[in-house]
Amino acid sequence: MPLVPSHVASLQPYVPGKPIEEVEREYGVSDVAKLASNENALGPSPLGMAAARAVCDRVHLYPDGSAFYLKKALSERFDVPIEEILVGNGSNELIELLVRTFALEGEEVLTSAQSFIAYKLAAHAHGRRLVEAPMKERFHYDLEALAAHLSPRTKVVFLANPDNPTGTWFLEKELVHFLGRVSRDTLVVLDEAYVEFVEAPGFQDSMALRKQHPNLVVLRTFSKIYGLAGLRLGYAFARPELVAFLDRVRAPFNVNMVAQAAGAAALGDGAHVALSRELVRLERPFLEKGLRELGATVVPSQANFVLADFPGRPGMALFEALLHEAVVVRPVAGYGFPTGQRITVGTHAENVKALAALRRVLAR
Ligand SMILES: *Cc1c(COP(=O)(O)O)cnc(C)c1O
Repeated sequence: MPLVPSHVASLQPYVPGKPIEEVEREYGVSDVAKLASNENALGPSPLGMAAARAVCDRVHLYPDGSAFYLKKALSERFDVPIEEILVGNGSNELIELLVRTFALEGEEVLTSAQSFIAYKLAAHAHGRRLVEAPMKERFHYDLEALAAHLSPRTKVVFLANPDNPTGTWFLEKELVHFLGRVSRDTLVVLDEAYVEFVEAPGFQDSMALRKQHPNLVVLRTFSKIYGLAGLRLGYAFARPELVAFLDRVRAPFNVNMVAQAAGAAALGDGAHVALSRELVRLERPFLEKGLRELGATVVPSQANFVLADFPGRPGMALFEALLHEAVVVRPVAGYGFPTGQRITVGTHAENVKALAALRRVLAR
């Protein structure tokens, strides 16, 4: 008898961005610029941090399993009834939970090739078939191709907009057209991890779309603009029936007490959100320009990172060379971009440092 099911035996582990401490230890460097995981360069929301500290003396108690105050804060902030809100241990947990709860044996999960790897991992971890539609012009979701890959077996569709690792986006009109072609029995999960950074016209209003499409699930996170990646906190908006099923499948205390408190407070930290958005608005063009001057092809982005392609420079080698310069980026060969690096928009000093390190490394 095999020890595990074959779909578990064939799983590939997720490769996270290299932690700062590990880079310092392994490469003997200090003052590391970590531009690998699209974290907030300005750090956590100060209001979130204060709230987190304030609950620390109560962590001998279990958290509120219903996350009442956090959901109430989300409900007020986004004008969504509490029964339509689910919170998770990062939106990653919610991705996994959606597959686990709704994709029956023999049903398929559909997404775009070269998009966020968590969709693939979730499908495969549960032994569900993942169907991937090709991108168009290498870096863009192709909603026509996605629609062409819909089948009566498609149960969950994952769409990241803006996308990771490309940073590209599609327009609301394309999404609306796609939604019109999806069966009501198929869930469309719109992953809006970077929505707060978006400035492009014609972008989706997911809150309005939810009202017309009961099969639409909106996923968001506190990991990016709110700066709480280390606390693990994500949320979903879905119709009450879906939330009720997900609620039964999730672990009883899936969101810890510190995350609940920090998240609720961070939602009200408009100043931190505005500063974080402003940083990306100013620094992303600076980083893009510097990368282009170094010969990279930079994919247009609406997120707090850019995908840069360095022709003739295999991703792992360039990544390694940058580690010696105390700069951590994210090679994306595993996504089918063999000479690509995903680079998070850092502080101005970090971006200057990354560009200087790249200049040295590329000159060798
Ligand atoms: C970063 C990211 C998330 C957020 O994951 P968490 O588990 O909430 O930290 C979700 N989706 C995409 C596309 C992302 O890039």
